[in-house]
Amino acid sequence: MSDTDFLVRMRDEAGTLRALAITSKHLVEAKRKQENLSPIAAAALGRLMSAALMMGDWLKGENDTLTLEISGEGELSHLVAVSNAKGEVRGYVSNPSVILPPNENGHLAVGKAIGKGRLIVIRDLGLKRPYVSATSLVSGEIAEDLTYYFAQSEQTPSSVGLGVRFDPKTVEVISAGGFLIQLLPGCPESTISCLEKNLASFSSVTEFYQSHGDDPALLLRTLLAGLSPIEEGKKEVRWHCSCSKDRAQHTLSSLPKKDLEEMANDTKDTEIVCEFCGKSYRFSPQEIQAMIDAKEAKQ
Ligand code: ZN
Repeated sequence: MSDTDFLVRMRDEAGTLRALAITSKHLVEAKRKQENLSPIAAAALGRLMSAALMMGDWLKGENDTLTLEISGEGELSHLVAVSNAKGEVRGYVSNPSVILPPNENGHLAVGKAIGKGRLIVIRDLGLKRPYVSATSLVSGEIAEDLTYYFAQSEQTPSSVGLGVRFDPKTVEVISAGGFLIQLLPGCPESTISCLEKNLASFSSVTEFYQSHGDDPALLLRTLLAGLSPIEEGKKEVRWHCSCSKDRAQHTLSSLPKKDLEEMANDTKDTEIVCEFCGKSYRFSPQEIQAMIDAKEAKQ
C-alpha cells in the first residue's frame, strides 16, 4: 500500500470506545499539486478531508454522505469536505492561495487563516431532509473544533488529532492524517485515565508518521496501549468527485426561468465549473431551451 491512503478502525477489548486513524498524504498532495494550494490552504483542507473520511466511515448506506463545512471570518473563508462510507472524499477551499506568517511556535497559522466562525456537519442519509448541526469554532485548528462539536452537539466525549506536514523546500505534503477516538456510554474511569495518559505523551500525528512510517494501526495501538485494542477493519481511501453533466444539468435547471431564458438567448454556451474538481460542463443555448421546455411540460 505504498502509494495508497487508508484508514484503520479499532475498539478496546471491552467495547467502551471506538477509534479510527487515517493516513491521507497522497490524496492531500494530489489536491495541493493539482490546484496549486498554498501550504496553509492545503493544511486546512487536508485536516478537514481527513476528518470527513473518518466520520464518513460511520455512515451505513452506500449513498449516504457526510459533509464538513467551515465558514470563517479569516482569509480562507469557506472550506468544504464531503465523504461517504466507500472511503471517497472531495473538498474545496474558497481562497486557495492564502499565505500567512507562521504562529509563535513555528507552525502554520491555520487557526488564524480560518478565524472565528462555524463548523457545520451535514449527514445526508437519503431521507427527506439531511441532518444538519453546527457549533461555533473554538480555535479554527479543526481538531479542537471537532472535539468541541462532538461534546456539544452529540454529547460524545472525543479526542481528535489532525495534521499535514510539508517538505520545507518543495512544499510537497510529506505526511498527513489523523485519529478520532470516542468514548461510548459506560466507559469506565480506568479506561479514560489510561487514554488521557497515552494522549499526554503523544506528540502529533505527523511527527508519529514521520518517525514510525505512515501506519495508522500502529498509531492507534500506541494511543490505546493498555486497553487491549482490537483491529476491526481497514480500508483504502481516495479522492473522488461525483460531478457529472447530469448533475450539472440538474443544478442549472433549478435556476429561475428568467435566468435560463437569458442563457438560452445568448449566442455563447453556458459553462458550469465544478467547485470541487474544476471540471467544466458546457451547455449550448439549444440545450438550455430544452431544459426550459421540459420544465414547462412538467407544470
Ligand atoms: Zn467535480
